[in-house]
Amino acid sequence: SDTGAAGIDPSLPLRDDLIGEEPYGAPQLDVPVCLNVNENPYPLADAVVQAITRRIAQVAPTLNRYPDRDHETLRQAFCDYLERESHTSLSVGQLWAANGSNEIMLQLFQAFGGPGRTALGADPTYSMYPEYARDTFTTWTTTPRNDDFTLDVDHLVRAMHEVRPAIVMLTSPNNPTGTVLPMDALERVLAEAERVEVAGSSRPTHPIVVVDEAYVEFRDPGTPSAVSLIDRFPHLAVSRTMSKAFAFAGARVGYIAANPSVIDCLRIVRMPYHLSALTQAAALAALEHTDEQLEQVGHLRRTRQETAAWLREQTYHGKPLQVAESQSNFLLFGGSFADRTQIFDELLKRGVLIRVVGPEGWLRVCMGTEEEMATFRRSLAEVLPLVR
Ligand code: PMP
Repeated sequence: SDTGAAGIDPSLPLRDDLIGEEPYGAPQLDVPVCLNVNENPYPLADAVVQAITRRIAQVAPTLNRYPDRDHETLRQAFCDYLERESHTSLSVGQLWAANGSNEIMLQLFQAFGGPGRTALGADPTYSMYPEYARDTFTTWTTTPRNDDFTLDVDHLVRAMHEVRPAIVMLTSPNNPTGTVLPMDALERVLAEAERVEVAGSSRPTHPIVVVDEAYVEFRDPGTPSAVSLIDRFPHLAVSRTMSKAFAFAGARVGYIAANPSVIDCLRIVRMPYHLSALTQAAALAALEHTDEQLEQVGHLRRTRQETAAWLREQTYHGKPLQVAESQSNFLLFGGSFADRTQIFDELLKRGVLIRVVGPEGWLRVCMGTEEEMATFRRSLAEVLPLVR
């Protein structure tokens, strides 16, 4: 029997459809410059560290009890944050949190996907979506993006009517391209979704449209967020995370804003007490210090702009590098690399870890500190003339 590269004991009754599958994840290598998983490179400010320590000390003696299952205080803190960040007033019933937006997304697929149902996305996009689909027995299907990685709305809308998906999965800014989804395009998809009847549903239902806004804080100032449309479109769900702009990836906190009836569906599938008291305490402490937590966002945005300009000045086989238009904390660059893994390997030899992801010929780098970016630039300039 073939158990694939994972080398799983063949006598174990692993699900047939999981045979040969590998655990997902970028390599966690001990190298000096890690620019591969879109983290925020700046450590937490002292004031935030102290606030976290204080709040954790408060809850530690009560850890014999289960945490607040509905994490109401934290949901209120997210309402306050969205009011400030996106100028949108939402109520506690419209917010919900989980262990990273990964878990939020899994809950969405558990609640709205399932056998006989389809989730529709637009490639290239975040490589975890097919995994949520697989794990919930949902069919994953995609339409191609335009050559500049913007959403091909006509194509997507046609596919919505053909496939009749239960979930339409959009990402803004998109990973790995950094592309923003304009509001008029989103509104068109939302309006169209109201005319689509979901396949595999025993009663007439319309798709849920998910906008994954993991990197939204890095967008150009003044650009609206999809959360501003929640009151107008009851089937819109906007997923967010504290992992990126908030520099909180290690705490595992994601959240979603949607109509309360969408949240009610997620509550059916969530694990009881899924969000630990420690996680809730840490997140509340970080949200008390939003300004400090988000201190580096503007700086990282400028780093992205400068790095994009620098990359466009570099040449590969006599031609300037292409750089996808990005409003996130990473850049997809190259476009014509004959052997991108060779470039990846040469950078790694120089202590710089980036990511082989996205269409052939492209590589992704996320924004690091000034020093890290200087090492990246120096190393890439050395490598480009050497490679095939
Ligand atoms: N969505 C997108 C588009 C991402 O790139 C990521 C992280 N790489 C996530 C969601 C998940 O982030 P987290 O679980 O840390 O919130």
